[in-house]
Amino acid sequence: MADQGEIEKYMYSALDLARAALAKGEVPVGCVMVYQGQAVAQGHNRVNESKNATVHAEMVAVGQLLEWCMKVGLDKNEVLPIVQLYVTCEPCIMCAGALRLLSIPLIVFGCPHMGGVAAAQEIHVERFNSKGQPFKCIAGIFAEPCAALLKQFYGQQNPNAPNPKKKAEGRSTGLGGNLASNFGSAFGGSGDGSEYYAAGYGYTEF
Ligand SMILES: [Zn+2]
Repeated sequence: MADQGEIEKYMYSALDLARAALAKGEVPVGCVMVYQGQAVAQGHNRVNESKNATVHAEMVAVGQLLEWCMKVGLDKNEVLPIVQLYVTCEPCIMCAGALRLLSIPLIVFGCPHMGGVAAAQEIHVERFNSKGQPFKCIAGIFAEPCAALLKQFYGQQNPNAPNPKKKAEGRSTGLGGNLASNFGSAFGGSGDGSEYYAAGYGYTEF
């Protein structure tokens, strides 16, 4: 299990990757994977660049980890069960499912998934016990800056969105504002993310 200093160090790295994603016009989520105290894989969201909606930060990092295993001659089946994954936003249901199937034991994340989907919480539980291994979560590390990047992104118009006009019309309050305000409701508060700490969710484990 990582100690607090280590957790914060790798979450800083994940935040840097999320900032890099924002600068490239991608959804600002960053991810770092750590094996035996060494960051061996990383990634940020590349959905716009790849025009592939599944290329989330976690998937990019997993791909890099598998390449690293081949390069250094390690068996991925021995590496994956002792890897720690740090990601700025709670994994979506696709990524949480994949991480479970890969037997990754520990996921550390910053802010909750938009809209309070609680994907990681849902996927790690025992009722999915016929598939993969349940993982441990540490939630709320630097939740505020992690969420702030997402709010900044969704507060702007995504220049790479396939049909921004249609999306904006299709939502009751418009895409940008609606998604940005959803971050607030995910935190159960006014929308600036501060409630996440105030409500005592910081550094929870489940
Ligand atoms: Zn995902």
